[in-house]
Amino acid sequence: MNLREILIEKFNHTSFRKGQEEIIEDILCGHDVIALLPTGGGKSLCYQLPAQILDGSVLIISPLVALMEDQVLQLKKMGEKRVIALNSFLSYEKKRKIIPGLHKYKYIFASPEILQSKFLMNRLKGIHFSLFVVDEAHCISQWGHDFRPDYSRLGDIRKMIGSPPCLALTATATKEVFEDIKGTLQLTKPNMHIHSIDRPNIAIAVKKVDSLENKKEELLKYAKELQGPGIVYFSSRIMAENIAQYLKDNGFERVAFYHGGMEQEKRMLIQEQFIHNQLSIICCTNAFGMGIDKPDIRFVIHFHYPSQMEAYLQEIGRAGRDGKPSAAILLYHEMDHEIPEVLIKYELPTIEQTQLVVDYMNQEIKDKGAFIYTKTVEEYFLTVFSVSEVQWRFIQLYLALDEVIKTPVNVKTAIYIVEEAARKRYIYKLNKLKMMENWIKTQKCRREAILAYFNEEVEKKPSSCCDLCEIDWDMYKRKFNEENEWKPASWRQELQRIFHRNG
Ligand code: ADP
Ligand code: MG
Repeated sequence: MNLREILIEKFNHTSFRKGQEEIIEDILCGHDVIALLPTGGGKSLCYQLPAQILDGSVLIISPLVALMEDQVLQLKKMGEKRVIALNSFLSYEKKRKIIPGLHKYKYIFASPEILQSKFLMNRLKGIHFSLFVVDEAHCISQWGHDFRPDYSRLGDIRKMIGSPPCLALTATATKEVFEDIKGTLQLTKPNMHIHSIDRPNIAIAVKKVDSLENKKEELLKYAKELQGPGIVYFSSRIMAENIAQYLKDNGFERVAFYHGGMEQEKRMLIQEQFIHNQLSIICCTNAFGMGIDKPDIRFVIHFHYPSQMEAYLQEIGRAGRDGKPSAAILLYHEMDHEIPEVLIKYELPTIEQTQLVVDYMNQEIKDKGAFIYTKTVEEYFLTVFSVSEVQWRFIQLYLALDEVIKTPVNVKTAIYIVEEAARKRYIYKLNKLKMMENWIKTQKCRREAILAYFNEEVEKKPSSCCDLCEIDWDMYKRKFNEENEWKPASWRQELQRIFHRNG
């Protein structure tokens, strides 16, 4: 069977999307590949299809449990049974049971964290892998907006399993991120497949407001007018919750909030409900959305803007994966810059925090012979030292600390190294934020400005482009015959509900 026949028979697609075929051919030739395709561009197929042809297994590294489960489900729906996801959701017993027979699986999904397990790695070493896939590969870069320290160990992991050809996939990358991907994964001469990140079907608008009240009103107006479903992004968990309630108070029933402070189960439930259209608006932090394959999200509204263009592009890219007209609207108030500035600061450890942590570590090594970062330690750091997981990871990264630390660390040196790194990171991040803000204030075409940031030019401007060019808002308005329409509850309905409840 040739590639096209497999595409039709196994995957039920009639033709390849831009870039897919060339990437797949390169993989089948055994090349290392770095591929940049826009969100919704069909990156998963680039490893799913070769896996059907290659002998041996494919190891896919994926940053989020939800994302992984999604991929597994998708493959299972296709009738593929040889799929397994290794992540923190697997119970200890289940893990012990699965691991000996792991070689029987074609697709092995794994979180980078779980690959820290020696027991698992020992087993993986004995399996023949024909491809090593890193999904959302920008997480490798410490300069990326989604940096995951565990991703920085993937180069070693790849070596341990016999250095199979590597496919790194991402939807957002600048030159420095590509360099990091290459370096970390130790790819000497990868074939680069860089495609346009432009999403012509997404109209882009920035709406200036003059107060918080005004921002809420604007949001309400858009939520009523625009065709759903939609996502509203916030930088704060509490604001996401409050505004979800505000929308409910104003007649929206199928609204929910979602953020990292919620139980995993609850989060999965909300995500499922949104995917299956039981919810029409989701108010969330950036914890929501990575890799979510919902084709028909019609709008993305930013109540707060993210701290860099890369994140912004990825977030608006969740709209309109089906290629149909969708809108991205950023609500902007002059004082909004304060939030990302504070967030950037809070991600970095202070001198005092570094000192507390290192002292604690050294004491543990002295008392118990070793320091291990466990859930209990995480909680202790947070409640007693106010050191968040992110701050700890920063310290751990720059001091090059292993999972188990047995030799004491020199406090002075540690502080020097961490402070220096934190200072650099701070400047770098502020600069990124500045560029995001410059974009918000731009006076020329927004699409051109986004693409210019990623060293690209607009090939063909869509007729409905941005607020500074032209937007045909009718294209995005709600069609009132649809079941997800917004209905303000009448007093009669309201009364009925009250009586019903009391009855
Ligand atoms: P991303 O690049 O964001 O990871 P996905 O791999 O999740 O995108 O794919 C997005 C959607 O596009 C999926 O629903 C997938 O089934 C679909 N898709 C992928 N390739 C094709 C194709 N060649 N033809 C039609 N649909 C495709
Ligand atoms: Mg994907």
